[in-house]
Amino acid sequence: MRVPFSYLERQFKQSENLEEKKELADTIIDDIRDFLKTSEFTLGSKVEAFEKKFAAFIGVKHAIGVGSGTDALILSLRALGIGAGDEVITCAETFIATAGAIAGVGATPVFVDVNDEFTIDENLIEGAITEKTKAIMPIFFTGNCPNMDAILDIAHKHKLHVVEDSCCGIDARIKDKKAGSMGITGTFSFHPLKNLNVWSDGGMVTTNSDDVAHKLKLLRNHGLANRDEVECFGYNSRLDALQAVVALRMIDDVTEVTNQRIANAKRLDEAFKDLSDFIEIPYRNPDYRNVFHLYMLRVKKRDELLEYCHQHEIEAKVHYPIELPYQNCCKHLGYKKGDFPKAERDRDSIITLPCHQCLTEAEINHMIETIRSFYINEHSALCGLSSTASDH
Ligand SMILES: *Cc1c(COP(=O)(O)O)cnc(C)c1O
Repeated sequence: MRVPFSYLERQFKQSENLEEKKELADTIIDDIRDFLKTSEFTLGSKVEAFEKKFAAFIGVKHAIGVGSGTDALILSLRALGIGAGDEVITCAETFIATAGAIAGVGATPVFVDVNDEFTIDENLIEGAITEKTKAIMPIFFTGNCPNMDAILDIAHKHKLHVVEDSCCGIDARIKDKKAGSMGITGTFSFHPLKNLNVWSDGGMVTTNSDDVAHKLKLLRNHGLANRDEVECFGYNSRLDALQAVVALRMIDDVTEVTNQRIANAKRLDEAFKDLSDFIEIPYRNPDYRNVFHLYMLRVKKRDELLEYCHQHEIEAKVHYPIELPYQNCCKHLGYKKGDFPKAERDRDSIITLPCHQCLTEAEINHMIETIRSFYINEHSALCGLSSTASDH
């Protein structure tokens, strides 16, 4: 039984919800037909309508639609005046775009090690601050929440900005505060594999600052104050109006999507709980709503398990097999082995299992049984556990 990592080929034709999902696809296509008549292909009323809906969803004053999550980070830094000669502190365990955005404005990414829950270790941040530090960029990596209270306190004390890389954390929350509502800006990606996905690339910046919102609107549109006057050098990074049409519908499902991921993650957690000799399920902070954009575990014999999953058609992955500070693009930063012990431990032990909202009951059971049998049957000498998954 194949257990796909991506849900894209199924999202509009999932068996149980066939009618409802087909209806959603048809509704969007009808919306696009209406949209064609408006010919508002750059910015315009659809982008504005989605920005308004998005700001309300996150609970912020402004949302500014941009070309991608990466651009949301770049434009945030530019709007804050961060550039050459400045340093931005971020986490060693993240997608390349976080550090790429910092480098993209001419600033230097300064990496801090990860904690046990795949977010920045806030206890290491102060040690990384220098006179050049301008901002901290924590990441809602895997859909989990960084310790924003502690990070905001440190930022306040040292007069630094906090730009949230909440690109993969839509609908994540710390108590009642949503990801993207706590820093000077929050950033979101609508890449097809993110929890709010459109039919190409797209992104959003959220902020409560009128001034930052004003700058972001200039920056995404060549710095144009109006048709003839250019306020500053900017970019062409507008949220595609057609994607705004898609997103206006998809946002209605995002909480349902994240709830299903959370439920799937809980099933998997429960099923592996008694295998603690082999599988470490990261701590789940009860104050955090982790939306499980990635369901990641730390496991023994990771390479063998990965291979075994692939043999059993489970599309497990590793996010990521090379630590970011040791990538070629970071060579000039001079980091060396041993600088990030937890990121290094994760490189050898993490595995990401499919956890998406379109998984079937049978597929989840297949994953559970496969992984349990790997540890129990293959390594039965090491423990005396039952190999049936049915009692979970
Ligand atoms: C996806 C992602 C990005 C980049 O988003 P794009 O829309 O693909 O540019 C940035 N940071 C993190 C943590 C992400 O997961």
